[in-house]
Amino acid sequence: MSLAPLPLSSRVTVLRGLGPARAAALQEAGIETLRDLLWNLPYRYVDRGSLRSLGSLEMRGLEPVEAGIVTVLGTIQDLRQSTTRVQHMALTEVLLGDDTGTLRLVWFNQPYLGRTLKVGDRLLVFGTLFPGRHGLEMRGPQFEVMDRGGDIGWVRRFLPLYRRLGPLTGRVRQRLVAEGLERAHLLEDWLPLDLARDLPDTLTALRLLHDPPDESEARDLEAGTTPAHRRLASEELFAFSLGVALRRAGRLQRRGLVVPTSPGLRERLRSFLPFHLTGAQRRAFKEIVDDLTAGRVMNRLLQGDVGSGKTLVALLALAMVAETGGQGALLVPTEVLARQHAASFKRYLGDQGGSMQLLLGGMKAAEKRAALARIASGEARYVVGTHALFQESVAFHRLQLVVVDEQHRFGVKQREALKEKGGDPHWLVMSATPIPRSLALAVFGDLDQSVLDELPPGRQPITTRLYKPDAAERAWEQVRRELAEGRQAFVVSPSIDPSDEGKVQLRDIQAMEALLRGIFPEVGIEVVHGRLKADEMAARMGRFVTGEAKILLATTVIEVGVDVPNATVMVVDHAERFGLSQLHQLRGRVGRGEHRSHFLMISGSETERLQTLVETQDGFRIAQRDLELRGPGEFFGVRQAGLPRFQVADLVRDRALLLRCREAADRVLALGLSEAQADWLKREQVRFRLAEVS
Ligand code: ADP
Ligand code: MG
Repeated sequence: MSLAPLPLSSRVTVLRGLGPARAAALQEAGIETLRDLLWNLPYRYVDRGSLRSLGSLEMRGLEPVEAGIVTVLGTIQDLRQSTTRVQHMALTEVLLGDDTGTLRLVWFNQPYLGRTLKVGDRLLVFGTLFPGRHGLEMRGPQFEVMDRGGDIGWVRRFLPLYRRLGPLTGRVRQRLVAEGLERAHLLEDWLPLDLARDLPDTLTALRLLHDPPDESEARDLEAGTTPAHRRLASEELFAFSLGVALRRAGRLQRRGLVVPTSPGLRERLRSFLPFHLTGAQRRAFKEIVDDLTAGRVMNRLLQGDVGSGKTLVALLALAMVAETGGQGALLVPTEVLARQHAASFKRYLGDQGGSMQLLLGGMKAAEKRAALARIASGEARYVVGTHALFQESVAFHRLQLVVVDEQHRFGVKQREALKEKGGDPHWLVMSATPIPRSLALAVFGDLDQSVLDELPPGRQPITTRLYKPDAAERAWEQVRRELAEGRQAFVVSPSIDPSDEGKVQLRDIQAMEALLRGIFPEVGIEVVHGRLKADEMAARMGRFVTGEAKILLATTVIEVGVDVPNATVMVVDHAERFGLSQLHQLRGRVGRGEHRSHFLMISGSETERLQTLVETQDGFRIAQRDLELRGPGEFFGVRQAGLPRFQVADLVRDRALLLRCREAADRVLALGLSEAQADWLKREQVRFRLAEVS
């Protein structure tokens, strides 16, 4: 029987194999169109030729004959849950059987398995064989639950395995995909020619990916690097890039506030600075001035390594607005930082310092009223604050520029709230650490970028060392030496989640405090962490900043911007608990003065990863490595709300492709969209969550 061909945008409900109940559940899982279904690719292909019967698995002496991954299919004959005696881990044991024999499977710390698996379930299992107490066993194998009681139709050599998608069991899924592949037909190709060259068309790619013809093809497909993958990833990345580029184009067409330049302005701005700008700072500031004076709305990302002088560029931009009658606001994530920025701004501004106003959530009522009045009247021309700036009671007189420090910690809604207060002010976003270009394009793609790729002169490299816990004494010796010279020290402990307790042996901040008080009995030590009240935090930090306290023991609350030039050594305990970019950011807390500084990590694991910090001080290289190791979601340390989700494309693996797609999108936009592209865009845009930054 021949069925009507379907465009990829058809609803999945047109497939014969899908009843209304399943369709509804699929919709819950985000699968609405044929494209959604087909672009959910298998994550693995099982070669049925490699499927082994249980009876054929053997030991030779104490070792299994098979090395590497073995695939078996069997039925659960017995299932037990218990707790291990020694470490109190949940232990799940399954006895898997087929006609020829049995095999023991064990999982640690996955108690939910005891609820999801049942005696009688058929499992397709992949894992490595180990000699166990009762013969061969697999530890923590991967598995797929096959249809209960049913049989697998071994119609193909390679069985595609899919991640669970709503209610679809393996066989139903395979049937739907097969029907979809057979009936799908292609509209006009909308991918620009230079991207599509050398790539198979969409349907050919999909067929190959769901049903690979041979072994080598299947292995390449698993790696995600074939032309077929590139075809699908290009479509996603191009559609995304086009959307972002359109957004940017839309912003550039809005009329922006024109910040006037005036005679003598340059001189006045220069007078705020005790030194010459670096070449990179000058470039970045010029880009900002061009935006502010051109009548478009600025939306710019200012990137650069720790200490490259971003804050100073931001201050110049704010000063330009303030000096010409407008107001600018600097938003920072914590009150400590807000105070610190306010203090350093005052220093730079000299006799203009009085036009600076701090606004914090923790202010006393009268103080806050006065602050609000100064902001509303326009008397305050520089406003520095935390999220308190988003409150409804804050009204600005002439808000023209908003500088956001550490943008990723502010939510989209908060930004919208602030935008409403000031019409359509200019935005400057400063990232605390360098962001790899591909990721910046994905998250901040509709922002223009200025990069500070040069450090101010005279910076000494920071001596970086990694010590095993049993050699930690050497780190403390260095601290002792620095203290003896009159310097100060940071010690960083990871914040420990209660759920981590007992899993690994971690030294928490209390234990570290006790240790430090033991080693340095005569020394003033302050301890700060995220659970302190704002005023207590400020008091403790204050005693460190003034030099009254010599050691500051902290969780990562000090990561963002604390500036104590006399602090010349930082010790990070359990360095393996931190991302590379985060460590690099921490390292930037020392080396801010004239003295040689030291960054010392203590860690018993992941030495290869941490070694990156010993080898380089280039924040962009560190960021790229961090991204490769941890993936985009973890890169920022917190879940990045603006990160787009792709089905096939991978921001790390496909980063070169993303750069090409972005260029192609700009080009296409300049020339005008084809009908197929405009059409595609309309249908696809909703699928990508763009960073809400315009
Ligand atoms: P970032 O915000 O990029 O980490 P900052 O703006 O805080 O960097 O600058 C780091 C330090 O370098 C500050 O102490 C600042 O005063 C100093 N600094 C910034 N620009 C220059 C410059 N052009 N020459 C000398 N020192 C500078
Ligand atoms: Mg800074």
